[in-house]
Amino acid sequence: MSDEEWKKLLSEEQYNVMRKKGTELPFSGKYTYNKGKGIYQCAACGNELFSSDTKFESGIGWPSFWKPAYDGSVKTIEDNSLGMRRIEVICGKCGSHLGHLFPDGPKPTGQRYCINSVALKFNKEEKMEKATFGGGCFWGVEAKFRKLKGVVNTTVGYMGGTFKNPTYEDICTDKTSHAEVVHIEYDPSKVTYEELLDVFWKVHNPTQFNRQGPDIGTQYRSVIFFYSPKQEALAKKSLKKLEDSKVYDRKIVTQIAPAAEFYKAEEYHQRYLEKHGLDSCKAF
Ligand SMILES: [Zn+2]
Repeated sequence: MSDEEWKKLLSEEQYNVMRKKGTELPFSGKYTYNKGKGIYQCAACGNELFSSDTKFESGIGWPSFWKPAYDGSVKTIEDNSLGMRRIEVICGKCGSHLGHLFPDGPKPTGQRYCINSVALKFNKEEKMEKATFGGGCFWGVEAKFRKLKGVVNTTVGYMGGTFKNPTYEDICTDKTSHAEVVHIEYDPSKVTYEELLDVFWKVHNPTQFNRQGPDIGTQYRSVIFFYSPKQEALAKKSLKKLEDSKVYDRKIVTQIAPAAEFYKAEEYHQRYLEKHGLDSCKAF
């Protein structure tokens, strides 16, 4: 990139540091005291440079890290300017100047990557959680969960079977023990696991054993796959509550099992009802 292009891309302050090897004033940068969890990227090219897990308080006035994000995320070169022998740190991808490396950092590396805030862009890690439910044909179950506030992503697939990488044809044989499931990523600050469970109970009939309406087979079983002891406890409590409420006069047969590997279903199954302009599938 030409100098002119860099000037367009970067702010004046960024340009002076990243392209002219300047240094921001100590204690002036916005990330010196940032304690958030996430990834620090190169402000010029977005390359992942440092993880917040390796950031430490150096007391010197610039964000300090003891290890780069991955092998090659930064490069170091000898810098003999200003009458000092220092090691310069540059972005491993675009070569922009970031700061300097000193051998006085904490364990385990003993290194201190002293980086200008202005050369960084902090990408805060969103704390998402996951949940997986099987409630019959996954088309309809996915459509219901997708509408919920706080659900950031849904994927349909297979879980809980006897072999790896099953296809739809495999699971339709009803001999693989995989269940059709919806894998959900959600923001726990917007929707709770209990709320997801409430929806799960409503979108299918948990008293039907290995079937949902016209769909018959173990792949259509009612199942909650949990990812933590907390999810397991909440699922059991929620099942008990439903049983006690006597909404159903038959026994609830929902299986509560530890999550196994999730296999994404073929693309044509993803958001199936949405793609076909349907509200619900035949199972409802
Ligand atoms: Zn870069």
